[in-house]
Amino acid sequence: MKILSPLLFLFFLSIIAKAQHSKVPDTAGYRIIEESKTAFPKFYQLFHQLLDHEPLLKQVVFINKKATGPGFANPNGTITFNLDYFINKKPRFDDNRLLVVLYHEVGHLHYFDKTPRPQRNPEDSEKAAFEYSLQKTKEMAMNNDCLPLKSGLQNMLLRSQSNETSDPHVRALKRMVNEPLYAEYVSYQKTNCK
Ligand SMILES: [Zn+2]
Repeated sequence: MKILSPLLFLFFLSIIAKAQHSKVPDTAGYRIIEESKTAFPKFYQLFHQLLDHEPLLKQVVFINKKATGPGFANPNGTITFNLDYFINKKPRFDDNRLLVVLYHEVGHLHYFDKTPRPQRNPEDSEKAAFEYSLQKTKEMAMNNDCLPLKSGLQNMLLRSQSNETSDPHVRALKRMVNEPLYAEYVSYQKTNCK
């Protein structure tokens, strides 16, 4: 039997997703990720590496929703991925940027793990997540792939200039881009990446 054409499959998936308030069944979600292997090879590789080797990642949940972010992390160890970013490819979210998002979400899990609940706040959580993604993408740069670090630094600087200060991401970035740690990453990139 011929397999369902991808378009027809996505059509059914969109109906299922609407019916369940954007939630996509696991099997369909993993299938979309599998089908994104060619378009998002670095994301794909890291995704599987984390599933196998990141003890703080307990569960992956998939949604398909417009007008919301690509990923979310929960203190219970769940990371939610918005498949809209994989199905309807967005020029501003290429493979490098989605990889940064993935590290960002894992960064949240590390923040939750090492910060007792009463001491947590959304802005610090975002800052820790951004810094974790810089740390990990710098490691990639040291292994000859500068593009994720470059993408991260560019997008963080851009977003730090936003006026949406009700968004903890923006508040965290406004602090972060003025700190020596961020400057060190910029300097590393300038010296070591072409
Ligand atoms: Zn975040």
